Amino acid sequence: MAVAGIDRAGWEHIDCPVCGGRAFTHLFDKGGEPFVRCTGCGLVLINPRPSFAAIRAGYDASYSAGYTRKADKKLRRARRRVARVKRRLGHGGRWLDVGCSAGFVVKAAAEAGFEAHGVDIETAGIAYGREQLGLAHLREGLLDEQAYETASFDVISLYDVIEHVPDLNAFVAELARLLAADGVIDLGTPDLGHWRVPRPLQRWDELKPSEHLYYFDRTTLARLLAHHGLRIVHQRTALKPGLKVIVGHA
Ligand SMILES: [Zn+2]
Repeated sequence: MAVAGIDRAGWEHIDCPVCGGRAFTHLFDKGGEPFVRCTGCGLVLINPRPSFAAIRAGYDASYSAGYTRKADKKLRRARRRVARVKRRLGHGGRWLDVGCSAGFVVKAAAEAGFEAHGVDIETAGIAYGREQLGLAHLREGLLDEQAYETASFDVISLYDVIEHVPDLNAFVAELARLLAADGVIDLGTPDLGHWRVPRPLQRWDELKPSEHLYYFDRTTLARLLAHHGLRIVHQRTALKPGLKVIVGHA
């Protein structure tokens, strides 16, 4: 089947991962991919979308360059994030950075006294973190392939990750399983509900075909989390269109 010159054979059509709805309003195409809005809950997503195998193949090609470039800046930002979360948590413990790339957050968490772990599908990023940052607890692969122990992490960080995950409900269920009873998830994702998101929406630079599969606002994110016994306990004000929240068990 060819639509608008794009071969969409093998593409995946999903029900809304937030509300289970099957009715979507087509907004526009970008990069040959259809951006739609769920009529049930308002989630914006790419649907149908390329297979995950095709998406995953693009990651190393597009992401592996330039870990050393801006490394100091990335580490400084990671230290600020870790310090902020540590203040809220009030104690140390075990930290897991999901989608850790080269491991700058893992490095910062280790410096702050956490037993710091990271996981990512980027081969080159994991290699950089092990070799250049000296990190011991980095794993290459998907989160649900790692079989970490239940309730074993005091902090899970997810910076610009959740919008990339193909199977959202399996992913959030795994986060809920891994999070300690009084643990926190520090989550950042583009915010569709932010006042600075351009109109028309097509102009938003966060719209990334094959990469950013979902566009949340606080309501849709909270609804997804609630399915898995999680809730937003704090939201930080963001000057750019980013949703920055702390999540805990409900
Ligand atoms: Zn929905």
